[in-house]
Amino acid sequence: MNYVDFKIPTSLAEARAILTELGDQAMPVAGSTLHVFLRDESPKVGVDISRLGLGEIADAGDHYAIGATTTVADLHAFSAPGWVLNRVAEAFVTQPIRNMATVGGSVVRVFPWSDWPIPLLALDAEFVITGDQERVMSAKDFFARQPFHHLQPGDILTSVRVPKMPANAGFGYFKERRTTTDFSRCTVAACVSIEEGTLADARIAIGAAVPMPIRMGAVEEALKGAKPSAAKIETAVLNGLEGVRWKGLHGISDDYARHLTVVRMVDALQAACDEATAQTGEQK
Ligand SMILES: Cc1cc2nc3c(=O)[nH]c(=O)nc-3n(C[C@H](O)[C@H](O)[C@H](O)COP(=O)(O)OP(=O)(O)OC[C@H]3O[C@@H](n4cnc5c(N)ncnc54)[C@H](O)[C@@H]3O)c2cc1C
Repeated sequence: MNYVDFKIPTSLAEARAILTELGDQAMPVAGSTLHVFLRDESPKVGVDISRLGLGEIADAGDHYAIGATTTVADLHAFSAPGWVLNRVAEAFVTQPIRNMATVGGSVVRVFPWSDWPIPLLALDAEFVITGDQERVMSAKDFFARQPFHHLQPGDILTSVRVPKMPANAGFGYFKERRTTTDFSRCTVAACVSIEEGTLADARIAIGAAVPMPIRMGAVEEALKGAKPSAAKIETAVLNGLEGVRWKGLHGISDDYARHLTVVRMVDALQAACDEATAQTGEQK
């Protein structure tokens, strides 16, 4: 990156005004950890958005509203009923990068190694963008293409709404890498809820082994209403892969990426079912 100037606004309105006025010449800067990876050498004015009051996690009834500049370290440290993102943060690179990288900066530009889109897809999160008007996008729509394309000059992602996991729900998350600091080869997140012994809802998302993170709709449909069993999960996964374009990263073949993801999809769904079953058992 080639920063020629740096602005430090202290309100959302001020930040938006600067970004709107400068258009393509300006760029929001949150944790600034992405900049080592960006090849853009055109002169840019960095607009620091870390002092806009967007760094809190609020309990908003049925969901948690995560301010866009909340750091991954804060997601890691947060603990509350129905909150599972600390498990994702646990597997996120190293503590120095957790201290700097923000949730907003981690989703506005998606890279093959991006961890956060996958659990946020599985959890049915929503994304609040503040422009001339505030708008809310579902995770599916937000990640249907590179999210920064949804933003006009002056728009800022202000928060991410993450539904609380209900008491009868379970979450499974796997990030496949060779060392703890390594980029993922395949990331899978699953979220299920169980009612009277059957799967009332099943959501599963995959990333790293595919060009953009996606929900696995056919797998989800095959599981809804079923009794959770290892055989049922495996069949649903194997029958639900049609149309997926596999992309092996960091020296693994596309076929191996597919194989790894299939194994981890089964594992994530099984872990989510086990957790939901244990929770519903405890409630009885
Ligand atoms: C060595 C290294 C390894 C890493 N490994 C991983 C990994 O394995 N998995 C992983 O998920 N991440 C990893 N990361 C982090 C990831 O690559 C990004 O750097 C990070 O998530 C970006 O967050 P940030 O807050 O620093 O964003 P920034 O770098 O500040 O910004 C990123 C982009 O988003 C825009 N932006 C930021 N916030 C907003 C907002 N609120 N509204 C609008 N636009 C905004 C910026 O303009 C910029 O284009 C790694 C980083 C490093 C340095």
